[in-house]
Amino acid sequence: MQVVHSERHREHAYANEVSMGGAVPAWEVPERAELILAALTADGHVIRPPTEAGLAPIHAVHDPAMVRFLETAWSDWQAGGGATTDPMIPDTFLHAGYRDGMGHAPEPTSPCGRMGYWCFDTATPIVAGTYGAARAAVDVALTAAQFVVAGERATYGLCRPPGHHAARATFGGYCYFNNAAITAEWLGRATGTRIGILDVDFHHGNGTQQIFYGRPDVAYASLHGDPRRIYPYFSGHADERGTGRGEGATFNQPLPAGTGDADYLAALERALDWLVGRTDGPLVVSLGFDTHQHDPICDLAVTTAAYGDHGRLVAGTGRPLVILQEGGYDLASIGENARRWLGGVEGRP
Ligand SMILES: [Zn+2]
Repeated sequence: MQVVHSERHREHAYANEVSMGGAVPAWEVPERAELILAALTADGHVIRPPTEAGLAPIHAVHDPAMVRFLETAWSDWQAGGGATTDPMIPDTFLHAGYRDGMGHAPEPTSPCGRMGYWCFDTATPIVAGTYGAARAAVDVALTAAQFVVAGERATYGLCRPPGHHAARATFGGYCYFNNAAITAEWLGRATGTRIGILDVDFHHGNGTQQIFYGRPDVAYASLHGDPRRIYPYFSGHADERGTGRGEGATFNQPLPAGTGDADYLAALERALDWLVGRTDGPLVVSLGFDTHQHDPICDLAVTTAAYGDHGRLVAGTGRPLVILQEGGYDLASIGENARRWLGGVEGRP
């Protein structure tokens, strides 16, 4: 399989994130992508660099003002007296209730104020290399999609940073640009088909859902830890099915703690049946390995061996696949998990 990868992801690295009120060692580290790359290289996949797609596909999905913030945040922070190598993390957030009944807030001018204006959590720091890495991750995703439009059955984009928590006008959850949503939008325009997005990261892809929630032309199906107990907490309930013309084009399947291979596979089959019935074009897969039984920040019980079955089942839809990396934080298993999943797609053991 063609595997698209950019070394620029390494420029996005920081020691700590803020979790539950304290600094903890970062989970979303460059080693994740390096381990996957090593496993796929050893497995004989062809590794390709991305081509630059420019800003237009990003602006098709995200608020250009947020894109501008991400581009200038670090240099403005330095120029404004930040003058530190510490990552930017917001300390004030534009909570929905803050301006309830008061209309729209203008974007602040202070770098710290702008950070809280666009970002929704403390787990998504900005460092000097964040914007370049996030742009490269989009290029990785779109290059993978171009291979599929050119006739490949399945391609894999080793995106880092991930993307599915980034919404039209807010970012968070280790995500800056929504690689999968940008790709689905681009694929829809390139192929004239209805695109399906299968999100099998452990967390609900709130950003992807938000971007397409009112639209009938892109169908979104997600399996994830129940938001009543799991980040990002405020979306992904089973009764969220889209709105307006998008009513019925969103499918959410929250999963209980400890969900193992058999139950996960059954849920995956339901999601695929739903997607195949609602779409007629390629599938974009938001692939996370944080469903793994040993993932340090999640609570499902999927085994490494089962990921081959997942890949086989998804390939069994017969749809062209653009498979994009999202989360997964168990460094001991992440490479082998990716090898199995893609091997399953190719019908290999
Ligand atoms: Zn995740």
